[in-house]
Amino acid sequence: MTSTAHTLVGGAIASAIPNPYLAIPLILASHFLMDSIPHWDMGTNWRNRSKRETGALAITETLMGITIAYSLYQGKVETSFLVLAIIASILPDWLETPWYIFYANQKKHEPGKNASFFEKLCFFVYKIENMFHSKAQFPLGVFTQIATVAFFLIVLHS
Ligand SMILES: [Zn+2]
Repeated sequence: MTSTAHTLVGGAIASAIPNPYLAIPLILASHFLMDSIPHWDMGTNWRNRSKRETGALAITETLMGITIAYSLYQGKVETSFLVLAIIASILPDWLETPWYIFYANQKKHEPGKNASFFEKLCFFVYKIENMFHSKAQFPLGVFTQIATVAFFLIVLHS
């Protein structure tokens, strides 16, 4: 999902569950759970754009998500815990970016025969993330995301 969806749910979990040892693993789990719901994000259709454009969009959207979640939950959640919660909520996506940045391209879908160990490792991490990933097109994929975030916020804040 988009970083904004993940950071909002991360902040909500942190505010509902004050124990970081419980909240952080739950936030990481929420990332994969959310990604398994069909959705649209910056990664959908990335092959139709230039990598530079997708990168710029993803970074902008991530900064936006961090800012929104931080301003919503600051004061309600202890600052260092909140920062950790926000990082944890989007960490799995950062771990898969090396594959996109260094190796994947419009025509390349997996490492070649003579790929380096690092390339194979990047691809492996990317594969794990994407085992859970379920895609839907715009705008349906945006609605599923709004519904998911709304569901989490209602449950966690009630
Ligand atoms: Zn993800």
